[in-house]
Amino acid sequence: MIYLDHNATSPLLPEVREILLQWLDRPANPSSIHTPGQRAAAAIERAAAQVAALCGGRASDVVFTSGATEANHLWFLGQAQRHVAVGATEHPSVHAAARRAGSSSIIPVDARGMHDYTGLPVGCAVSVMAANHETGVVHDLEPLRGRELHVDASAAAGRIALSLPHASVTLSAHKIGGPLGVGALVSPAIEPMFMGSQQRGRRAGTLNTPGIVAFGLAAELALTHAAERHRRWTGLQTRLSSALQSLGARIVGPPGLPTVVNAVFPGLPAELIVQALDLRGVCVSAGAACASGSVDRSPVLEAMGDPEPDGGVRFSFGWSTDPDDVEVAIAALQQVLEDLDALRT
Ligand code: PMP
Repeated sequence: MIYLDHNATSPLLPEVREILLQWLDRPANPSSIHTPGQRAAAAIERAAAQVAALCGGRASDVVFTSGATEANHLWFLGQAQRHVAVGATEHPSVHAAARRAGSSSIIPVDARGMHDYTGLPVGCAVSVMAANHETGVVHDLEPLRGRELHVDASAAAGRIALSLPHASVTLSAHKIGGPLGVGALVSPAIEPMFMGSQQRGRRAGTLNTPGIVAFGLAAELALTHAAERHRRWTGLQTRLSSALQSLGARIVGPPGLPTVVNAVFPGLPAELIVQALDLRGVCVSAGAACASGSVDRSPVLEAMGDPEPDGGVRFSFGWSTDPDDVEVAIAALQQVLEDLDALRT
């Protein structure tokens, strides 16, 4: 199987799997005062430092959650009395949390998918992503300096360097080779969703020590291997983009994350290509939401005013992607396009 859908989830890193299994076999409630409990508490503290480093935040601001969805909701819960401006192409969990919180408005994007901050009300809080999960577009956060700012960095962390010491930041473990169901909100001010004593009252519930320790290691490995991965990804992205273009595709958005290529094949529904590639053992994504059997247009491409009604095919790389993956995917795609062409003529 060729797996080019790391923006949906990355497979577990082997080192992460190993530490996860070790901790699954131990009693590991960090609130216990005996030795295993203290060891778990120390491991959680270490993981907080590793995770904070991923976004240039403080370890003491890390609150572990069940994932980025919960982290996004947790941040919005603290904004109940505030107006928050939200990026048009945010993840659905941000839009849902903003709707529930009350007063919000949308920051539009231009045809490239970049924010247009011109109409932004003075002084209002802002929630924007660091990079887009569908197109890989990297947003300019500089104009937001000095504002109350939340950044969903789930799609960007481990892909590009992040230094967000003045923002509240959402992170997710499974996007960087950590386990599913673990994430964090890195924020100095948190209004708890669940009441209780754990995590200094900021998020109650016995901590998922194995998952959190594994998240910490995945974060550390992302930073340790950042330069090598970046070089590898950039080469693969250049190769894939030019191959797709010679096969008649249009690449969506300006160069952004080195790990994402979103390509529109004029006249061909993205879902059709995704399914045909799947039959050939290549996993990619259509980047469009599937609801009760009906396929909706990608809200991200919609917000960008992209003229293509059939959506884009998203190829996304991660820690394990190598040149062979990309070459096999290109060959499979070429075959798929030839087969579809033969069907049409
Ligand atoms: N934000 C972004 C940008 C994402 O890509 C995702 C995952 N699709 C999420 C939030 C939700 O993450 P999780 O699966 O950890 O809840």
